[in-house]
Amino acid sequence: MLVSAKEMLTKAKQGKYAVGQFNINNLEWTKAILLTAQECNSPVILGVSEGAGKYMCGYKTVVGMVNGMIEELGITVPVALHLDHGSYDGCMKCIEAGFSSIMFDGSHYPIDENVAKTSELVKICAEKGMSLEAEVGSIGGEEDGVVGAGECADPDECKSIADLGVTMLAAGIGNIHGKYPENWKGLSFETLAAVQEKTGEMPLVLHGGTGIPEEMIKKAISLGVAKINVNTECQLSFAAATRAYIEAGKDLSGKGFDPRKLLAPGTEAIKATVKEKMELFGSVNKA
Ligand SMILES: [Zn+2]
Repeated sequence: MLVSAKEMLTKAKQGKYAVGQFNINNLEWTKAILLTAQECNSPVILGVSEGAGKYMCGYKTVVGMVNGMIEELGITVPVALHLDHGSYDGCMKCIEAGFSSIMFDGSHYPIDENVAKTSELVKICAEKGMSLEAEVGSIGGEEDGVVGAGECADPDECKSIADLGVTMLAAGIGNIHGKYPENWKGLSFETLAAVQEKTGEMPLVLHGGTGIPEEMIKKAISLGVAKINVNTECQLSFAAATRAYIEAGKDLSGKGFDPRKLLAPGTEAIKATVKEKMELFGSVNKA
């Protein structure tokens, strides 16, 4: 059964570790992440961007697939199914489809409008027992057409959004989606510390986890980050393993063209990446 992310993140914040949000794109992705979470006895958040939701034939298809897998694979660790960077409409659709968690990305609205829309969603999520993530200060890079400049959030704005009753808060601290450029200045721990001071017990979310050096991840967790989003890294490991399989000509030998064989190395590569992240984030054996 899907659960809200509230309890797992409250525990993570108290225990000074972080729960990974791993974005899914298809059946292989979902299976790899769920099996690894179970093997690591770790709570997990499955992230779905609006683009990936469309690709997987809509949110209802996603909910059906994930619920089916939890049952058929005997997954007993806490699993939240979460809309990543949702629009207001996207949030409504996911609430209806049976997601257990949503992110409303109102970072591109003026703060007043972000507050108004977030408040409405707070009410609905409370009724449904769902968790809600809000964002302040847009996160750099590009994700499914959502482009941000990597700014740092204003800690007072973070407090005003946190006070609305959201479950977790994504604050821009110089992080970006996708690969980090050579001249990236690193995370702003000063901003993170200021946000943490203003928002207290609120679990903080770090987007754009791919390519942030390990020491920075650990420091961010020590400063209140309890949820870390990983997306690009699984895509890169899947692509590299699939490339190696094809370049070795394995699809041309025997039944190597069978999709269950062709996609297996990539699926195993995702598992390895997810396991590595769960170990780094400290969520192993925290289910
Ligand atoms: Zn993000």
